[in-house]
Parts: sequence; C-alpha cells; structure tokens
Amino acid sequence: MLNLKFFPYSPRKGQREFISFIQENLERCKSFLLDAPNGFGKTPCLLAALLPKVEEGEKIILWTVKTGMEINRPVEELKKIVSKTGEEFFGISYRGKKDMCLLIEERKLRGLTHEDANFVCAKYRNKCRYFNFSPSEIVDLTEKPLTYAEIYEACKQRKVCPYFAQRHLACYCNLLSLNYNYVFSKRMRWAIKTLVPFSECILVVDEAHNVERACQSLNSDKITLEGVRRALEEVKSYKLALSREALEFLEYLEETFSSFLPRVAKGEEILFSLKTLLENFFEDAFEVESLMTELKSYGNFVRTKRFEEGKRPASSLHKLGVFFLESLESLGEDENGSGVTFFLKKLSEKNLELERWDMRVAPHLEALWDEFYSCIFCSGSLKPFDAFSEVAGLRDSLSSSFPPPYSEENIAFFITRGVTTKGEELQDEMAREYLEFLRIFFENVEANSAVFSASFRIQEKLLENGLLRLAESCGKKVFLEREGMSGIEAQSLLEEFKSCSRREKNCLLIASSTGRFSEGVDFPGKELGAIFLVGIPFERLTLRTKVYISYFRFLYGKRGRKYAYVVPALRRASQTFGRALRNPQDKAILIAGDERFCRDEYLSLLPSWLTSWPVALDKHEFSGALKNAVEKLKL
Ligand code: SF4
Repeated sequence: MLNLKFFPYSPRKGQREFISFIQENLERCKSFLLDAPNGFGKTPCLLAALLPKVEEGEKIILWTVKTGMEINRPVEELKKIVSKTGEEFFGISYRGKKDMCLLIEERKLRGLTHEDANFVCAKYRNKCRYFNFSPSEIVDLTEKPLTYAEIYEACKQRKVCPYFAQRHLACYCNLLSLNYNYVFSKRMRWAIKTLVPFSECILVVDEAHNVERACQSLNSDKITLEGVRRALEEVKSYKLALSREALEFLEYLEETFSSFLPRVAKGEEILFSLKTLLENFFEDAFEVESLMTELKSYGNFVRTKRFEEGKRPASSLHKLGVFFLESLESLGEDENGSGVTFFLKKLSEKNLELERWDMRVAPHLEALWDEFYSCIFCSGSLKPFDAFSEVAGLRDSLSSSFPPPYSEENIAFFITRGVTTKGEELQDEMAREYLEFLRIFFENVEANSAVFSASFRIQEKLLENGLLRLAESCGKKVFLEREGMSGIEAQSLLEEFKSCSRREKNCLLIASSTGRFSEGVDFPGKELGAIFLVGIPFERLTLRTKVYISYFRFLYGKRGRKYAYVVPALRRASQTFGRALRNPQDKAILIAGDERFCRDEYLSLLPSWLTSWPVALDKHEFSGALKNAVEKLKL
C-alpha cells in the first residue's frame, strides 16, 4: 500500500509511517490531525502521500500557510519531485493583487493594503493595458511549477497582468499554495472557489496550531478617533454632499469617543457597548445600514480621487462604513455567547481605538471543512488533539503523532527549580534569581544561544536588573529584540544574528516568546545551540484574557480555561524550543526556566520529543548538568 514514488529522499525515522498513515486512510477519512516535530520533513512527506491521488487525475492539493514567507515551500518541493521523477505535476504559489499588480508598480504606489489594491483593480481594470491578454501568451508557463515571484517576472516581460495570469494558471494546478485567508475568510474564499471546486480539493493546513488566532484576526477590525477626525476632514476637503444624518453621526462619534479620553488611562482597555452607541443615535438597524452604506460610497469617491492624485487610495469614511456594517451582524445576539466583544483602548492623550474582537473559531469554520474532499491539519504543536478539534470545529478526525528525528543524543532538556514568573509582575528579587541561573548558563554553554522571555515585560525586568551587562561580561555578543520593532528592523536584526552566529559561537539573541523570533524562523546547525526560556508564556491576566476565558467557559465548560489560556501558552513554549531544532543533525540544550514546568498539567502539554528526558535542577546542580550536556552533545 505504501507508495513512495514521489518521495525524492531516503526516508528517515517516522517518514514511511507518516506517508502510509495518510495513504491508507485517505479514502475513508475526512480529516487528519498530524503532529510531527520541527525538522521531520512534513512538506515532502505530505506531497509524497498525496500526489498518487493527484496522479490518478482526481484531486487538487490546496496548501494553506499562515504567512507569505512559507508560501513557496511546497512549490519548491514539487519542483524537486518533478525533476527527480519526470512526472508532469504543475503547481503555483498564489498571491493577492497587492503583490501581483503591474499597474501599482508602474504608478510607484507604496504601502497599499490588499483592500486598496482590489479597489485599484476593480476601478481601473478596463483601462489597464495589462488586463486583456490571450491565454496563448502564457500557456508555456504551465510547463513546470512556479513561485508567485517567477510568475510575476515572466508576466512583466510579456506585459501581461500577473494576477489574472496566475488565476488562469491556477485552473491547471495539481498544487495551489496560498495564504490561510483565501480559505478561512468568507469574503476572500469565493476568489479561489471559482478556480478550484473545494469538493475536489485535499486541503492542507500547515502550522495548523495557528488556525485559532488566524481566524480571529481575520474577523476582527479596528477604527480610531483619529480616523473619525480624518473622515470629517475628508468631507470638508473633498466638499462631499453627505446627508445631514451622516454628518451628525460622525460628529456624535467624535464627541462620544473624545468623552472617554479623560476617563481611560493610556494603554488601558475597557469594554464598550457598540449596541448602546448605535441605539442612542438610530431608530433601527435598517437606518444604520443605510447610513453606513452612504459613508462607504462617499469613501469610494475619495479613494478614486486620491488614486488620481497619485496617493494611496484609502479613505477613513470608507473604513468607518465597512467597520460598522461588518459589526452589525454580531449585535443581535445574546451578549455572553456572541463571541464578539468591543474594546476601547486609549492610544495617546488625543487618540483611542475601538476594536471589534471576534473570538469565534468553530462557528466560522465548522461548515467550511465539510466542503473539502479531505482536510489535513499538520503542526509540531497540535496536541492536545481534542482541544484543537473542538476549538476548530472538527468532527471525526483521525489523529496521530510522529517521532522526532532527534534522540537523547541531540537534546538535553532541563527544568529549573526555585524560579518562576508566576504573578502579576516579576519582582526584582526573582529577576535576580533568574540572572543567577543565566550567569551559570552563559558561563557553561559556549554556543550560540537565545534567552526567550515569556513576555516583553519580563524581558524588560531582566534588562533592568542587568541582563545585558551580565551577558556582555560573560563574553556574549548580544542581539536584542525590542517590543514594537518594525518588520524591517526585526529582519535586519535576524540577519545580523544569523550571519554572526555562522562565524562565531558567542552570539546571544535576547527575545520574547511573544515576539517575532519564537515562531516561523529557523536557526539550523550552529546558529542556535541552546535556548533558555524564562517563564511560561501565558497571556497576562488582563480584562481581555478574562473575557476570552469566560467565552471559552461558556462554550466548553470546565475545559474552557485550559483551551483559552493553558494550551496556547504551552504551544508558544513548544514553538520557542523548536527554533533550535530544524534538522536531524541539530543539537541543543533547552532550558524550561520555570518550576511550574514540573507540573504534569503543563509538562504533558509539551511535545513528547521534548519531555522524554526531563531533568529538574536547582541552582547548585545547574552548572554540573550543563557541563555534562555540553560534553555529551559536543556543542
Ligand atoms: S488588471 Fe492586473 S495589472 Fe491591471 S489593475 Fe488589475 S491587477 Fe493590476
């Protein structure tokens, strides 16, 4: 039964079992939950498992990823399979108009959102010189798998729209790789459904532990007081003939939001009743809908004008109209169980934001999974399976865990006794205890390392107590992730760290488990030989966290707290530890720096490859254990 025809490597530990598990059950099972650790080789294994079904001419692989950076991986793997087997599989990675529009590049417009790019195309497509092309101009592009950047370049040379060329190519695909949004978002889904019938697709959800957050972030949105002021400015500067009610509503909104400025502390979040705000102004929902549609339509006029002026086609009027229209849907429901909450947060002395936070996952997604021939959810931190299934709205899934390519020879895992980040704030005394452990860590581990803190607040506390000085005095070259770093700053810090760590072995990354480097970034080989995680990355018990736990309790009873609060924290910890292990040859010392990790309730939620050999140590045992580990792992 096992078919390895499309596996271009010699199978390693667990890979045969992984492939045959899918192949044996694909006919009879609707959804799979596969837990396989970092470095397992999930991408080639999944392709090898599914391509025989594709070869029969029956199914299309719809591969979804969390971020654009991961979108090319399956296409690159497919290229290897095609070159090795000579089989004529075709696949592409797929991007939105923001990245695939030649008109936007021609006009040198920067910082456009997907919404802006869609607007530009909808408005100017008929005049766009790239829009009309014959399929014969791109037919040769179906000869081999292509990344979206390759499609873009080929189309640019031919003066053909890359976005619409890509849509045409998608109809020939055996593999289509795209962002979660194209499947999870109701609004965007149709764009893909019109190309590939979902009933013919095997859906792969890569890094599936992200499903919960991705779905919530897609359905949530924000507006600001500044945005309301800008909307009023737009009315003046574009001399818009808004109805009297619409103008009065904008003024009412500005006045209401402004009245909260003196009442809320900077950075503080409070619950806000959008229902009351609207009921105080409107007679009924029909009136709201009609006024918001008016704002949206004037907003579109502003967007057109701005584009013609060579500016980004954005409008605050449009933004407000969309926000309220989309929020209306959630207002009729019972407050406890609606799963949608509104938060008001003060950003500065003059500005605040109103956020619609949609916590629902299963209600948005459960019917979606049934549309596919089959769904495969894969990740290195998917367990516990029952929690994942229930939260994502899955029924009757087949689940399995696969062993890591590592053994005791690759990993030393320690839990530190006598330190914890439990409590509202990390006290100075406890911070100094942590620094004592870190001093021993720095002095004994001569390898590129990382200190990840459970939050930026904890990192700040360690810095205040001398973490930087300590690291430098131990000869470490420090690379520090700061809270709020831009994507570009973070990328450049990452490149500096990686380049230095390939040459030297004293580099130290100081970062947060809630930051940009604890997930989705690989540090193979010598780039990272040891990780010290300070604390368990629980969400802070803010009003928001309490609301979340309470909603999950409403849905799942006693299991609610575990699903909403405990599981996500331990998943974050697993992801953080996984940074140092990407290949079977990688070796690492991993330190769970919080005595609460000893509790079964938490330890059982870490992956088994990590917890097979846990050793709990106090300060006095730590140095000796590290020395032995360094020697054993030959770091
Ligand atoms: S047709 Fe293509 S190039 Fe032209 S505006 Fe639309 S997306 Fe851009």
